[in-house]
Order: sequence, then C-alpha cells, then structure tokens
Amino acid sequence: MHRTKGEAILLRREPINEADRLLTLFHPARGTVRLVAKAARKSKKRFLGALEPCTRLEVEFVEIPNRAYGRLESSDVLAAFPRFRRELPALAQAAYACELAGLVARPGEPAEALYAWLVLFLTLVDQDGPDAATLRAFELGVLDRGGLGPPLDRCAACGRGLEPGARPAFDTARGGALCPRCGTGTARPVSLGTRRTLAAARRGDPPLPPRIGFSRQALQESRRLLGEFLGYHLEQQPRTRRYLDQVCPEVA
Ligand SMILES: [Zn+2]
Repeated sequence: MHRTKGEAILLRREPINEADRLLTLFHPARGTVRLVAKAARKSKKRFLGALEPCTRLEVEFVEIPNRAYGRLESSDVLAAFPRFRRELPALAQAAYACELAGLVARPGEPAEALYAWLVLFLTLVDQDGPDAATLRAFELGVLDRGGLGPPLDRCAACGRGLEPGARPAFDTARGGALCPRCGTGTARPVSLGTRRTLAAARRGDPPLPPRIGFSRQALQESRRLLGEFLGYHLEQQPRTRRYLDQVCPEVA
C-alpha cells in the first residue's frame, strides 16, 4: 500500500453508484491517479461536496499494488477557481486544459513541470477570464513539458538552424518546422509571424502573460498547427476540445 499526501488537481469525476465517485486526479509526483471516493464517511457532505472538477485540492490517498483504483482518504479545497462555476467559457477552457494535461501525464510518473503549468493556467483563467492566445501558449507549453514540443528555430528533419527571416513549412509527422530544403511534399507553409509569435510564447517571461500579442493570422495558424500536433501525438482529439469549439468558439 502506498500512501500519498499533497496537492492535486481533480481532472474528472464519474459516478460509480448513487453515493460513490471515481476520480481522476493529477498529482505532481504520481502523475494521473484513479481513486474511489466513498461517500459513506462522517464528513459526507464536506467530503464529496468539495470534489468539483478543475479544482485544486489538498488530498490524502492510498494506492494498492495490482489494483486499478486507489482510495481517497481526505480532501480539502486549496483553490476553488470560482469563475469556472459562473462562466461557461472559463469552465470550457479549464476542462480542456485539464483533459490535455491528463492525457500527456502518465499514471504513476512524476510530472512536476506540467503540473505547475496547469496550475498557472487555471489560476490565470480564473483571474483574468479565458483568452484564445493564452490557450495557444498553454498548449505549446504542455507539448514542451511532455517532451513533445516542436522545434521552431531549427529544422526538425535535418537539424539545420532556420534563417531568422525564413518562412518555414510545418509537418506534424516529421516533428515540426522544416527548412526550405526539407519542407517539400506534405509540409504546409506557416507565416513568419506565427513562427515568431510561438517562439516568443515559448520564451515567455513571465510565462503565460495575460494577453499575448497574437495577430489574427498567428492565432488561426497556431490553433490549427498546435491542434494537429497534439492530435498526432495523443492519437486522439480531446473530448473537451470539441465541446470548446462548439460552445465557446471565441475562446477555443
Ligand atoms: Zn532541413
């Protein structure tokens, strides 16, 4: 039996029966963890009432070897992110961010940098409201922290540095931006502005500023490009991505 204490983000909550819940948590040292939360406890109302998805919690849980699910022992809310309960676009972005981080993190494996990135993003959306440019910077940061980030300053095929003014082509299956020699065939051109904006977002200091200066073109291109890149590596389109696209396209 492995007992863990500390903070975590609740990614997902599903009913098992009328009283109990199956939770997916993201813990910085344990990655994604699936836990059963039993309602049959003394502090029933406080215990399950606090378990809203996209909430930052202080938890204690037990994992049992060779068992699919561990057991949640206690939980307290560290940050409830109240905007997510009031505004649908904020919740839709937060749910997508949580699903994305949960798909990149692995069960049982530490992912401290990815965890901190998710906390930073959720805090920012709660404070300032949802914004499409900040979501693009978040997606790029998720790829980077998962070791999947596309190179933007050198060719993903031959490794040669890209000229500062070069207008690269982009090929998801070949790993990112390609030089003029390699970027033939399936690669699609990307504007210089988009490449520069993404590189600036990657360098971000402080990371995830409230409003990054994406032009309309950079926003559209990077949305398509990062979406394709994420879909390719995750081998699926996150369920919450489709919801965000349909319900809140202005911040998708
Ligand atoms: Zn090349």
